[in-house]
Amino acid sequence: MHPIRKKLFAALALAGCAAVPALADDTTTSPGTAASSAAEVVTAASGPAAATPLARLPYTPVLDVTAMDKTVDPCVDFYQYACGGWQKNNPIPGDEAGWGVYQKMAADNQRVLWGILDRLSTQASGRTVSQQKIGDAFAACTDERLTQRLGARPLKPTLDLIDGMRTKKDLPAVLAALQMQSGDDGFLFSFSASQDYADSSRVIAFANQGGLGMPERDYYLKTDARSKELREKYVAHVTRMFQLLGDGADDAKAHADTVLSMETALAKGSLTQVELRDSKKLFHPANERKLQALVPAFDWKSYLAGLGLAGNDRYNISEPRFFQTLDFQLRLRKLDEIKTYLRWHVAHISAPFLSKPFVDENFRYFRRELRGVTAQAPLWKRCVMLVDTQIGEALGQEFVKDNFSPDLKAKTLHMTRQIQAAMDSEIRNLDWMGPQTKAKALEKLHGMVNKIGYPDKWRDYASLEIRRDDLLGNVQRGDAFEMRRQLAKIGKPVDHSEWQMTPPTVNAYYDAQMNDINFPAGILQPPLFDARLDDAPNYGNTGGTIGHELTHGFDDEGRQFDAKGNLKDWWTKKDAAEFEKRTTCLTDQYGKYIVVDDVHINSKLTLGEDLADFGGLVLALIAWKAEMAEHPAPQSIDGLTPDQRFFIGNAQWACSNERPEQLRVLAATDPHSPTKYRVNGLVANFKEFEQAFSCKPGQPMAPVKRCQVW
Ligand SMILES: [Zn+2]
Repeated sequence: MHPIRKKLFAALALAGCAAVPALADDTTTSPGTAASSAAEVVTAASGPAAATPLARLPYTPVLDVTAMDKTVDPCVDFYQYACGGWQKNNPIPGDEAGWGVYQKMAADNQRVLWGILDRLSTQASGRTVSQQKIGDAFAACTDERLTQRLGARPLKPTLDLIDGMRTKKDLPAVLAALQMQSGDDGFLFSFSASQDYADSSRVIAFANQGGLGMPERDYYLKTDARSKELREKYVAHVTRMFQLLGDGADDAKAHADTVLSMETALAKGSLTQVELRDSKKLFHPANERKLQALVPAFDWKSYLAGLGLAGNDRYNISEPRFFQTLDFQLRLRKLDEIKTYLRWHVAHISAPFLSKPFVDENFRYFRRELRGVTAQAPLWKRCVMLVDTQIGEALGQEFVKDNFSPDLKAKTLHMTRQIQAAMDSEIRNLDWMGPQTKAKALEKLHGMVNKIGYPDKWRDYASLEIRRDDLLGNVQRGDAFEMRRQLAKIGKPVDHSEWQMTPPTVNAYYDAQMNDINFPAGILQPPLFDARLDDAPNYGNTGGTIGHELTHGFDDEGRQFDAKGNLKDWWTKKDAAEFEKRTTCLTDQYGKYIVVDDVHINSKLTLGEDLADFGGLVLALIAWKAEMAEHPAPQSIDGLTPDQRFFIGNAQWACSNERPEQLRVLAATDPHSPTKYRVNGLVANFKEFEQAFSCKPGQPMAPVKRCQVW
């Protein structure tokens, strides 16, 4: 849930939820959303409570035999075979909700970033402007004694702003100020800038649903025992937060009830996670008059003036029904109730940056209760994540100096071009797609831009004020900097060089409106990509990732956008029906898998990612065979054939352990299937896998009936 950055269509890993930051509040993102405000760090970044910073990234080979469990039959449970050893050797650290190859790499990256920040926070002279900002931001964040001494005092100006409202007419200006300094969508709704769905060359303002404290709408509406329990505990948590703000026990409880009641009403007006994946449902262009007519109880003119946006006249109201609900709430609620609701959200998003009682209380509900995490992340780690979120390109610039060579970039580009060539031949050879759709698909494929490593042009943070003695102020100014940067795009040409992930991020994404695929330096490292070793697992692993991102351009969501990034149907009716018939096979297959207890995969939510995994493996196989034809791989390494090494490489990115609580949150919010099924569900659809491991038809990984899309 983040308001500011544009919708990010499809990341590889658990964007937003994989390893949610401890400094942050642990709300999860909407499906397919990118990084966000400070209170909601999104990268898959976290790690063990390592005691020391690192000067260099540690090394793990791309195919790790110790990560395997060779006692298991690969034809029965390939995930266990490829990852059983890893799971045993890598228990979940106390401060993590889950722990996988990605999180472990991200944690190593964090320790490198820690080393950089440690040095820059104490260096007395010779720092560049960017180095000064990240160094001082880290210094302010790690000054625990000062944070402790200040208690709730840093909140006072913000709380005074809310308290100063005399009538509901004062709300729009105050709301604009709160959203501006938080970048958070927890204040009734979210407002941002994004490419126009009808014309991707222009940026317009988007108004989106929001206003919740718990991860998403179903947490307010489901009636099973665990959901009810989580709501009761939520009210208890909100009550304690009001007490920390100074309310008496009875008042605090009454206030918490108000919060739950308002948020439940907003949840009822919100779209589901599955509905949010359908861009056609999210496109409702409007001018200011229409916006005003939809929410008469809210003066948009003064709100927009507060954001510095007077004079624009094209908006997209993503969820009109939500804004009708908001209108009703604004009429229904007394001014005091609205103030109460706003006070809670201020405390909620600021808690990670206040004194220990706030940090602990926030941790207790959002990390321990919701996700089963047993220990708080150490302060250095929370502060690294904060700087990465807020001033990430200044920090990333330091990271890539030592950790991303031109050679690595060239090798990635070579593989990417092979994957693109594979998709070209795949499209041409598809038997179910007609020539008209094929021509458009090829146009889209050839219009796709590759971005590898880090941006060509680094973001300029010169206007962001960072002080060594003002943690919450830094956070608020950092969020305001980002919000202003986003809103300033409105009416200007789209900047195609921009990245939505920072360079150290262990993740990748496809952006349907930009029609580009993006691979940060953080993911192009061993054990995911090892340019020095055997090609087989490299093509299975990173080749699969590149193919995954590319396929997002053609998944159920991405295929709705054309080569230019416009929401425009380029499929013939017949070909669209053929595509949907094939995707139904996947939703049926994945919908049978159990995530935890009696919770099944919501396979309509995960369809785009399951499709991308499928296409990724198809393309990686083709690309690898092309590479093998020129550079044959050794016939046997560790007793494994090239084909076997390819498939093990394809599985080993996914090795992980998750807490059951975390699995439950992910089942509700994450558009990715659990890693076990991202491996087993995937290979079961490939005849090549059956052959590589000489499986007998009918074994679990070699079913007689397979799905086939690409
Ligand atoms: Zn993906």
